[in-house]
Amino acid sequence: MDYLKFEDMNLSSDALKAISDMGFEEATPIQSQSISIIMSGRDVIGQSQTGTGKTAAFGIPLLEKIDPFDRHLQAIILCPTRELAIQTSEEFRKLLKYRGNVKVLPIYGGQPIDRQISALKKGCQVIIGTPGRVMDHMSRRTLKMETVRFVVLDEADEMLDMGFREDIETILEKIPSERQTMLFSATMPQEILELTDRYQNEPEYVTVIHKELTVPSIDQSYFEVKEKVKLDALCRLIDIENPSLSLVFCNTKKLVDELVEQLQGRGYFAEGLHGDLKQPQRDLVMKKFRNRTLEILVATDVAARGLDVDDIDIVFNYDLPQDEEYYIHRIGRTGRAGKSGRAFTFVVGKEIYKLREIMKLTKAKIARKKLPSLGDLEEVKTRSFVDKIKDIVDEGHLTKYVNIVEGMITEDYSTLDIAAALMKHNLYDADVAEIDLEIEPFYERKPTKFKSYYREDDANITRLFLTIGKKEKVKPNDIVGAIANESGVPGRVIGHIDIYDEFTFVDVPESIAKDIITGMKNKKIKGKKIHIERAKKL
Ligand code: ADP
Ligand code: MG
Repeated sequence: MDYLKFEDMNLSSDALKAISDMGFEEATPIQSQSISIIMSGRDVIGQSQTGTGKTAAFGIPLLEKIDPFDRHLQAIILCPTRELAIQTSEEFRKLLKYRGNVKVLPIYGGQPIDRQISALKKGCQVIIGTPGRVMDHMSRRTLKMETVRFVVLDEADEMLDMGFREDIETILEKIPSERQTMLFSATMPQEILELTDRYQNEPEYVTVIHKELTVPSIDQSYFEVKEKVKLDALCRLIDIENPSLSLVFCNTKKLVDELVEQLQGRGYFAEGLHGDLKQPQRDLVMKKFRNRTLEILVATDVAARGLDVDDIDIVFNYDLPQDEEYYIHRIGRTGRAGKSGRAFTFVVGKEIYKLREIMKLTKAKIARKKLPSLGDLEEVKTRSFVDKIKDIVDEGHLTKYVNIVEGMITEDYSTLDIAAALMKHNLYDADVAEIDLEIEPFYERKPTKFKSYYREDDANITRLFLTIGKKEKVKPNDIVGAIANESGVPGRVIGHIDIYDEFTFVDVPESIAKDIITGMKNKKIKGKKIHIERAKKL
């Protein structure tokens, strides 16, 4: 896969400056392919998984094509939810940082329509909206489609899942046919291909081809964390694992700079490496890294590509990488020259889906781990301190210090108390904050799909039988967690749970019962391998 530089894409200097301010160093694969096609005026079908930068893939070229001197509506982006409409318009505003004369407006349900109407009256060239609300404005004639030249269907699969097909078709019918139509989606079901057939003009199909990748034999784990405890999580892992060299990956230059500052603030020897550094600065950082005056190097993918260091103990994916190739490149930085290496990945919320995709495509075994607790950290510190003390005793040459202790003993202190006090003095760390890094794992699915299954007396409920019970001290949470984890269904669709001494009944929607049974096959709950089947009718 070629990762193109934004500089090589014939973009305006205003756009390049804005992109650089956003901290993007190079285009993601879907961007590398889509941007030039959209710039050339062709229709595009773009498919790539969530989190691969599809917004900028159409946003960058689309905004280049908007005529700032024409106050009429020129582009409509349709997306499934209000959150996405807002998010996309925020990303667009960042892209437009140096082009103040292009107006972007999100329109979505739930916001007073009068306010949107008056905003529209002032004139705006780009709207980003949910299909329902766009229809609403069309029928009020507050949105005039005659001048629209660009249409984007973003997250098309989700829009169809949410039942927006008819609305989308009505909207597309109203937009002049001499237009450029772009469609982006994580998946490409038949229904979408039908849409593209009818409403696009010889579209170019762009997808990210997955290469055969060999995963180096590296011990890989991931941790589910909240965004705001990532820094604490990183510090705790570094403290407990005590690597002499680690490499931490962030997705943007900005994030690299921020993290370096935070780590330095906490007393770690950390430096950053990214594309904005001049060669002499870069050389200096690399020199420090090589001669070990630096313990943590924080880098972007681009900056790390030329990195030639053999003994990195741990690679951290502080941000989950944009695609599986980055993942492989990143973790390949450790475990080189015959040494064993480890890779730790942080996953926030929905990113778990992206991680699963990475696992699937690379066939990598990435184990879910819990972050070490403060207790674990203390234990490790104590152990290493005690070992050090033993070494010092074995080495001898302690006369000077023995004299001090003898002096204290004459004052009626026991040697045991003195030793214990020295331990406390060395080990007690008032700075260690009691931060709880534990979080519930994330099980998210589109709620609409499961809405009808909430009723427990529903005929569509199936009762499952599991061979684990009170004897194993199993709790409802263990059952929900295991089912959600192994079969990917959201915990909240799991219904009533009855735990008996040796077995448990669980009510689940019939539509997903089979998935659960397959997913749980030969799996363990609380360390016990369980059997699961449909409960026999009495
Ligand atoms: P998708 O629509 O494919 O799910 P998004 O467009 O929402 O993905 O992008 C996911 C994240 O990646 C966003 O935070 C975005 O700012 C970031 N991103 C997009 N392109 C790049 C890039 N070239 N370099 C670094 N980060 C990027
Ligand atoms: Mg998107």
